[in-house]
Amino acid sequence: MEEALARAREAEESPVGRGIIEELQANVALAKEEAIPVCQDTGMAIVYVELGQDVHITGGNLYLAIDEGVRQGYEQGYLRKSIVADPLRRENTGDNTPAFIRVQVVPGDKLRIHLLPKGGGSENVSRLAMLKPAQGVAGVKKFVLETLDLAGGNACPPYLVGVGIGGTFDECAFLAKRALMREVGRPNPQEHLARLEEELLEAINDLGIGPQGFGGRQTALAVHVESLPTHIACLPVAVNLSCHALRHRSREV
Ligand code: SF4
Repeated sequence: MEEALARAREAEESPVGRGIIEELQANVALAKEEAIPVCQDTGMAIVYVELGQDVHITGGNLYLAIDEGVRQGYEQGYLRKSIVADPLRRENTGDNTPAFIRVQVVPGDKLRIHLLPKGGGSENVSRLAMLKPAQGVAGVKKFVLETLDLAGGNACPPYLVGVGIGGTFDECAFLAKRALMREVGRPNPQEHLARLEEELLEAINDLGIGPQGFGGRQTALAVHVESLPTHIACLPVAVNLSCHALRHRSREV
């Protein structure tokens, strides 16, 4: 993100936008120096686990172990506890658990854990649509642009834009989230999707929202598209936005 912000600073045409990016860069530098978060919203703990099919976990429950890690991490790091136990009663759990865990069994004997502490603001402006297949790539682009237009400056741009295309209703949303875990700006290895990423980035930056919504061209730092097979009658598309405070780490054991 630091490199992406530096590139955005160079590319931004609006003096106000450039000034905002400089403030974001100063904020990142201060957070690094003081070992504190770049934003008060330290998010919900999104944990994506790739579990090698030859791995055998002993000594306890994987889900409880992840929750315990989140509990300790948020406590020791003085990170804000942002989770409510019930979406309607809204009582804070007090330790940022439960984590939101997704486990996928993969070949091999490794356990890979990806952690994405995801802020609420950018989650709130994320959207999903079940398009008609005839709407095709034009429909996908229209939906992504509409989503960014509706988000405006509300979720602290410049954004990283995760797009999921295909799969089922639920898989598509997860694809968009997983897209955010890719190294910023690394293109999709499939050529047609890499091209779509470029076209979307260009079109999003033409919206003029700019850094923190104050106008400019640097509305998004990158667009990451992921796709899955889907049903002949379906064309799901999901957009999961992340603000510039994108944080994620992966560990393999
Ligand atoms: S959108 Fe991002 S930068 Fe803005 S308040 Fe939420 S986590 Fe912080």
